[in-house]
Amino acid sequence: MLHFIANGLVAAAIILQFLALRPVRILIALLPPGRLRFSWYVLTALIIIFIIGYGAYIPAFWGSHERLSDLVVPAVFFLVACFVLLVNILSLETARNMQRLRVFEQESITDPLTGIYNRRYLERRLTDEIARANRYGMPLSVLLIDIDHFKRVNDIYGHQVGDLVLEGMAQLIVTTLRTTDIVARYGGEEIMVIAPSTPVKIAADLAERLRKIVENASFEVPIELDCDISALGVTVSIGVACIGPHTKDMQDLIQSADKALYRAKSEGRNRVVTGNTTDV
Ligand code: GH3
Ligand code: MG
Ligand code: MG
Repeated sequence: MLHFIANGLVAAAIILQFLALRPVRILIALLPPGRLRFSWYVLTALIIIFIIGYGAYIPAFWGSHERLSDLVVPAVFFLVACFVLLVNILSLETARNMQRLRVFEQESITDPLTGIYNRRYLERRLTDEIARANRYGMPLSVLLIDIDHFKRVNDIYGHQVGDLVLEGMAQLIVTTLRTTDIVARYGGEEIMVIAPSTPVKIAADLAERLRKIVENASFEVPIELDCDISALGVTVSIGVACIGPHTKDMQDLIQSADKALYRAKSEGRNRVVTGNTTDV
């Protein structure tokens, strides 16, 4: 009877160790190549060694379980296998939860149409960047970009084409700017750029460069949309503002950029207007 229990415990331990390999395999597939992934390969090798060791125990100690104390080793084998399986399952679940959390976090700060940051992230980041710029006496500029006569695009070609232009515009801006600049959708067809450590004159030059790039760009319209045109061009007006003695917080800065944008519109569109020129 003791012999049967001992071998049963070891056999169960072998099965559990085999099962423990599955979560590790999934986990390895989730991880990018690197040290952590390598460590899981090492753990896989250890589990295989355990399995071989347990397998060797059965014939080596066949018929030698006569007292209750002879069950200690098989019982420890079994408990170790339970432990390994449990740790591997928990590790996989934890990794999956972390991955889901990262996706949620990314989604909560991303605009679904354009793929750039949304207004929520823009406001949080702008507040942080203004505080940092004020603390270190660094310049900070913003660009408020608005597509000219965008309503007409929607009215003439339909909202799907409008969406396409908006998406293309966002990507064009992102690829034109430095990675340190933050690009976010401010409102309907308005995009804001936060340019940290950038004096207003440089920001105005950047805005002018962007304006020209947009003017010369054409946004492709796929045939599936059944539209009269295959490509479409638009222009943008840009309001530029920077922090300064009279523009200290986010509201001031946005208001200043908005006023400059309004002027760019009223002066004929497709142009850049700088709001406050009080550089830091
Ligand atoms: P202006 O040159 O003065 O900026 O003229 P405009 O037509 O661009 O300005 P207006 O503010 O009158 O219209 C903005 C339009 O942007 C109205 C709205 O239908 C469109 N719009 C806002 N968000 C979206 C969007 O997500 N997709 C599409 N297709 N259109 C949008
Ligand atoms: Mg507009
Ligand atoms: Mg607008």
